[in-house]
Amino acid sequence: MTQTILILPGDGIGPEITAEAEKVLTALRRQHGFDASWSHGLIGGAAFDATGEPLPAATLTAAKAADAVLLAAVGGPKYDTLPRPQRPERGLLAIRAGMGLYANLRPALLYPELAQASSLKPELVADLDILIVRELTGGIYFGQPRGIREEHGQRVGYNTEVYSESEIERIARSAFEAARLRGKRLCSVDKANVLESSELWRETVIRVGAEYSDVALTHQYVDNAAMQLVRAPKQFDVIVTSNLFGDILSDIAAQLTGSIGMLPSASLNERRQGLYEPIHGSAPDIAGKGVANPLAMILSLAMMLRYSLQRADLALKVETAVRHVLADGLRTGDIARAGEATVGTPAMGDAVVAALA
Ligand code: NAD
Repeated sequence: MTQTILILPGDGIGPEITAEAEKVLTALRRQHGFDASWSHGLIGGAAFDATGEPLPAATLTAAKAADAVLLAAVGGPKYDTLPRPQRPERGLLAIRAGMGLYANLRPALLYPELAQASSLKPELVADLDILIVRELTGGIYFGQPRGIREEHGQRVGYNTEVYSESEIERIARSAFEAARLRGKRLCSVDKANVLESSELWRETVIRVGAEYSDVALTHQYVDNAAMQLVRAPKQFDVIVTSNLFGDILSDIAAQLTGSIGMLPSASLNERRQGLYEPIHGSAPDIAGKGVANPLAMILSLAMMLRYSLQRADLALKVETAVRHVLADGLRTGDIARAGEATVGTPAMGDAVVAALA
């Protein structure tokens, strides 16, 4: 059956890097038997300019109907003074909520050729390939009660870390399934020595783990996990953790790779329908100049093939093509060393397409 993809170019460098991802999609359809069709929608500042809203109803309807959504980035200085409900970032939050995306998958992958970009020693990070699965719709960011109240003559701020068994079960399943598609090792990160919510987290992950006997499950406290990520990051395959811990650990992991233009991400719902996007923003400082790195966008497309479209074979082809292009020495400005020759956005996309063939 033909699979359907909704493409949302958004703002800034979005349209430029999206064009390169589309070249890859076209090549997969022409040369590799990929049965898919795609259409375009509006989100962010581009949607506000056209319709007065950062997420038009038509975009959300199309997103829910598609098998997967590929999004570039939203935002820009032009929109920073708009009232909050009309800002581009609201479009992003609204599409995540509207699609019910609760599992955020953030790989930290470092090609050996780029190991010098990391703040860690190259031998600690060369060939790093870890995946952080972060719970995205629960925990302390959404828990009630929350607020600031008066108590004994001073203000007191409070938030609530709360997880139900069903919330933990579904994120655990997403992580076990992801581990099955990779190295079959899962480390669950919590703070079960101090927090009751973490105690339930650990118990529930162990219970779900009984259904995945082919995946090796371990546990770490979050303070230790943060230390291990910068001490010996290659010990991990997949990490699963709560919204708050995942927010922090995934940024540490991203920094291990040192190159924001290279990192993709995925957010999945219960139907394994997903929103796939680079972790970087719309980079207004370089928009329209043809110099943006399209590889995070192309690697987001690879994640889409693996996690929503059940085409791990094509995902691997795309990832291997990116690997070849880097091994051949092609660099956009953001990943080039001082003095190294650079290529522009279209040349990088063309090189990936050529490597696919
Ligand atoms: P940013 O990620 O857009 O840019 C940070 C730096 O990295 C800039 O110097 C930029 O040129 C560079 N960079 C980013 N992606 C690159 C790429 N593919 N190739 C080469 N260089 C790249 O973050 P920012 O500057 O903090 O934010 C800019 C705008 O993007 C803001 O409006 C912000 O709200 C928005 N934003 C959107 C998202 C999203 O859509 N998911 C995420 C973060 C920021």
